[in-house]
Amino acid sequence: MSRSEPLFAPRRRSRPVQVGKVVVGGEAPVSVQSMTNTDTRDVTATAEQIAALAEAGADLVRISCPDIIAAEAVGPLVAQSTVPLVADIHFDHRLALIALEGGIDCLRINPGNIGSKERVGEVVRAARERKVPIRIGVNAGSLEKDLLARYGEPCADAMVASGLRHIRILEDLDYPEIKISLKASSVAMTVEAYRKLAKQVDYPLHLGITEAGGLLPGSVKSAIGLGLLLSEGIGDTLRVSLSADPIEEVRVGFDILKTLGLRTRGVNLISCPTCSRQEFPVIDVVATLEKRLAHIREAVNLSVIGCIVNGPGEARECHVGLVGGGGDNLLYLDGKPAEKIEDHQLVSRLVQEVELAAAKIRDNKA
Ligand code: SF4
Repeated sequence: MSRSEPLFAPRRRSRPVQVGKVVVGGEAPVSVQSMTNTDTRDVTATAEQIAALAEAGADLVRISCPDIIAAEAVGPLVAQSTVPLVADIHFDHRLALIALEGGIDCLRINPGNIGSKERVGEVVRAARERKVPIRIGVNAGSLEKDLLARYGEPCADAMVASGLRHIRILEDLDYPEIKISLKASSVAMTVEAYRKLAKQVDYPLHLGITEAGGLLPGSVKSAIGLGLLLSEGIGDTLRVSLSADPIEEVRVGFDILKTLGLRTRGVNLISCPTCSRQEFPVIDVVATLEKRLAHIREAVNLSVIGCIVNGPGEARECHVGLVGGGGDNLLYLDGKPAEKIEDHQLVSRLVQEVELAAAKIRDNKA
């Protein structure tokens, strides 16, 4: 397999926090999060979506709790979930207390927005008892009025000032179990804000470009913003925010981490962009393979290349490779030519061989 030097700076040293069974920060791998978009009060639908997100690889799942019935759903949802859950709460401290009682693993609240000092103290006391961390989530679209007045408009400095303000509230209560996000829809503003905050605190950072858009533009924005930060060693957990199925957020999050060599999961599919030399319909085969191989968790390298120009070179570096050859396509296994396969067998043989390669990786780990 091809190997090259990592293209990023050493990771920023952050203070690890425990979110249920998942460590965020410190030496822990950068975790991938998403958020349900079902009605949290509908426990069945939400539990199903949490399970689907976990199956897709989400390490953590956030659920919103806009009212008491949603907060009361936390208990049954936690009981059914295989991954730690984060409750997203605004304005009402009682919802945080109910979620904590239900066994939530993390709260996403901004302490400055949930009421008086006494109320914040009450939430922190309950969180401390249960060892539940708090994620402070600053969003450029909802900055405090006085900060907007001071800075004139949403900007990185205003976001950092807001983050530090919420952090101080928790530090004054001697509660350092904190993660922080500073999200804007502008990549430049987001990157600047995280860079500045990263120099001032050692809490783990939750990365994200907020309201990034639909699947394609949102993925591009997120990959650039999160990629820049991660390449500088900044970031301990991430969410890719897309106007799309939340499962896609998990897939794109993993793709960003896989591309940077920070995590491995599932098939790394190398395929050519196609041209008139292609000896089989590469685009169709790749689209089918992506669906048929979505269940693979092991890091299997698969190359699917339309012709002999680049095919053998890529196949030699992969667990499984295919080189187009006009009805006489060549299958490579572990970097070596293995057998010729006809067009109609392409997908089924590749799926079979990738599954075998995944099983071998599993056995070697066991
Ligand atoms: Fe075209 Fe072959 Fe390159 Fe694919 S590998 S883009 S088919 S020349």
